[in-house]
Amino acid sequence: MKNDTIAAIATAPGVAGISVIRISGDSAKTIIERIFRPIAKNCKYIPQRMYLGDLYSGNNFIDQCFAVYFKKPNSYTGEDVIEIQCHGGDMVSEMILDTVITSGARIAEPGEFTKRAFLNGKIDLSQAESIMDLIGSLTEKSAIESAKALKGSIKSKIDDLQNQLSDVIAQIEAVIEYPEEDLEAVVSSEQEPVIEKIYLEIKRLSDSYKNGKIIRNGINAVIIGRPNVGKSSLLNLILDENRAIVTHIPGTTRDTLTEYFVYKSIPIIITDTAGVRETDDDIEKIGVEKSIEAISGADIVLFVLDSSESISEEDKLLYEKIADKKHLIVLNKSDLAAVTNEDTVFKCFDAEPISISCKTRQGKDELLDMIVSSTIDKGNESMTILRERQYSSLKKAQSFLNTSLYSIKRGMDLDCVSIDLKEAWFSLGEITGKSLTEDIIDRIFEKFCLGK
Ligand code: GDP
Repeated sequence: MKNDTIAAIATAPGVAGISVIRISGDSAKTIIERIFRPIAKNCKYIPQRMYLGDLYSGNNFIDQCFAVYFKKPNSYTGEDVIEIQCHGGDMVSEMILDTVITSGARIAEPGEFTKRAFLNGKIDLSQAESIMDLIGSLTEKSAIESAKALKGSIKSKIDDLQNQLSDVIAQIEAVIEYPEEDLEAVVSSEQEPVIEKIYLEIKRLSDSYKNGKIIRNGINAVIIGRPNVGKSSLLNLILDENRAIVTHIPGTTRDTLTEYFVYKSIPIIITDTAGVRETDDDIEKIGVEKSIEAISGADIVLFVLDSSESISEEDKLLYEKIADKKHLIVLNKSDLAAVTNEDTVFKCFDAEPISISCKTRQGKDELLDMIVSSTIDKGNESMTILRERQYSSLKKAQSFLNTSLYSIKRGMDLDCVSIDLKEAWFSLGEITGKSLTEDIIDRIFEKFCLGK
């Protein structure tokens, strides 16, 4: 049933001062009247006012709580909502939820409150997704960007782009309806720059995903280098702890080791690999395969060399494997007498290395700054796309607009141009949820968390 009354504990499990139980649907008010005895006489449940009272399961007193009534449509879901603030801890809130369920509600599915908010037009899909991103934010930057999207920045931008496209489609369709040859040419030349402008606006937005992905998920940095150059030492230096085992015996990091940390408000996921080299040792072989896998998913590879030794064939072979990927050459052990210096590296690999010493910690911050600056664009885009789903819809819209521009430039039938413009309009609508089918919407909300 779509309009039945749902309930869930909205706060996180565990010991806490208070917990919140949320009830949404037509029976929300009837349920609270059944189980809650307000201290105030003749309580009328004036919306958005807090009432203190005793909560009962039948004749058994459970807790003294607050209850707030939000009258539809002025609530999170757009339906009648009751929120109960009880004492924290899992037991009390679960007992109250049980009582609510026995009194006529059912347990909400993950994301069902937000889904109802979306279906009742309180928020669009980009705002629903931003609520999840805001809750799950790991850094300040990601929280700030999610909050902007929640306020509707993406929604209003997409609505604006769709309106601009609708205008173009209307002009073109008018000519198709009343075909006069010279008019077709006039409309084409008038609308071409408008489509181009819309295309560029969409491109700027989709380009922001490069940063958005990193703000939301972090920079994926992978350390590689032949055995004993100091990969594990570099991981420890960066993490400021002895997480990886450091030894002088080559090949001791048999598996990949991944750690997460935040540097200047940017999450960084760093992986120390086993070193990619030919080996007969079965365990080491697995490690090597994992390293290759890690390299393929990296945003940036840190290729480590040992400055106290000369560049070997193994170094060169390894470099070939990562040369096409975004990378930094890290020249380690700068505290020792140099056999390989920055010039030697430049001559061999045609790239400037960053000198560091894992032993003295020299060069650590420069390296971290380089990791951030070479993966994040300085771009001053006021809006950042954080979600892959939104990004792929923008790319689709871009591709349809590109085709429409191609057709218009070559004087092709305006019918074809119009079809592509409408497809672009639909692709944009996927971001706000305007042009999505029910089953896709269900799938999106299933990924949300319980009580939201
Ligand atoms: P991996 O095999 O590449 O992970 O290398 P390790 O991190 O295990 O280091 C190999 C050896 O080099 C160890 O004995 C480390 O103590 C040493 N080492 C690592 N970094 C430095 C450094 O900057 N200076 C000096 N002098 N020794 C280092």
